[in-house]
Amino acid sequence: MSGSYNEHSKFSPSSAHRILACTPSLLLEQQFPKETSTYAEEGTAAHDLAEHKLKKALKMRSKKPVSKYDSDEMDEYTDTYVEYCLEIIEKVKENCKDLQILIEQKLDFSDYVEGGFGTGDFVIVGTGKLHVIDFKYGIGVIVSAEKNPQMMLYALGALSLFDMLYDIKKVTMTIVQPRTDNFSTYEMSVDDLLKWAEEELKPKALLALKGEGEFCAGKHCRFCRAKNKCRVRAAKNLELLKYEFADPALLSDEEIAEIIGVSEELSKWAGDIYTYASALAVNEGKQWDGYKLVEGRTRRKYTNEEAVVEAAKSAGYSDIYKKNLISVTEMEKLMGKKKFKDILGFLVEKPRGKLTLVSESDKRKAVEAITTEFKVEE
Ligand code: SF4
Repeated sequence: MSGSYNEHSKFSPSSAHRILACTPSLLLEQQFPKETSTYAEEGTAAHDLAEHKLKKALKMRSKKPVSKYDSDEMDEYTDTYVEYCLEIIEKVKENCKDLQILIEQKLDFSDYVEGGFGTGDFVIVGTGKLHVIDFKYGIGVIVSAEKNPQMMLYALGALSLFDMLYDIKKVTMTIVQPRTDNFSTYEMSVDDLLKWAEEELKPKALLALKGEGEFCAGKHCRFCRAKNKCRVRAAKNLELLKYEFADPALLSDEEIAEIIGVSEELSKWAGDIYTYASALAVNEGKQWDGYKLVEGRTRRKYTNEEAVVEAAKSAGYSDIYKKNLISVTEMEKLMGKKKFKDILGFLVEKPRGKLTLVSESDKRKAVEAITTEFKVEE
């Protein structure tokens, strides 16, 4: 979703997952300002470029956007998105000549959520089927399309535009997140989508817009503007800390595994609170009981490099530079991908990443521990 529309729905599709999990959060967070980040700005720039390229590929009028975030990387990943959309168009064309394509379309789902709308990156409708595609430029969280409320809200908005014209039975929702190589697709029947809208979305949205319902803390809290001051989130995390230390004196493996399970949320929450408190102290002079501001260690630095060179040389010191080899990425850019592979491919290796313990639900492939590998080699 891009920022093409100036108005914003209170019940924004991109926050739907969190609002449905914790309905009172919608009104609670209104008292905290929206913060933007360079990641968000970069995402908007990537969306604008992707929109432009897709329009151009479909022979529609569009002016190329310019942004300070333009890069070869962004160029490559927006190409991947456009290629994906064009492939879908070709597939739909095989069965339907009279298809409809919408790019950056305002999708209204106010039949289910008062005042609800969002902007769909790419929607295509043909015989019996609706496709909703969302471009994600972030890399922090790999987003799944499966039962993803944001995608389902876009689908509801698109359905209300087209259900009179096309006999739509199925909806396919896809998240294209090229920087993480994530192409997640989920298909559901229109009947199931409408059932969800009536039975889950509508009642919860009603509660959310009135600030009612149960607070519920979980992973979704990290996207809530109330996260630093929310008492329910604090209580849930402090509850995790209350570990019953029974005999014997040492923790069992099962107990340690349980603690690992809660450590991610705990450290995220503690980090959020520390960042919030530090920012207030540094930027607004806020005093926290028992804490003070100190200066971190710094390194000496030249105030004027040209003057340093001149002064050192005139004092007889000429050997004052060191040369560094440019990085693999810079070399690849310099030579181009093919030449780089031909000339230096055999001299480049990708070392193994640092081993990290993660939950079994993590999508990455499990690898052997260092000691196991060693034993196998022996
Ligand atoms: S921080 Fe979590 S529990 Fe608190 S309001 Fe936000 S989503 Fe709900």
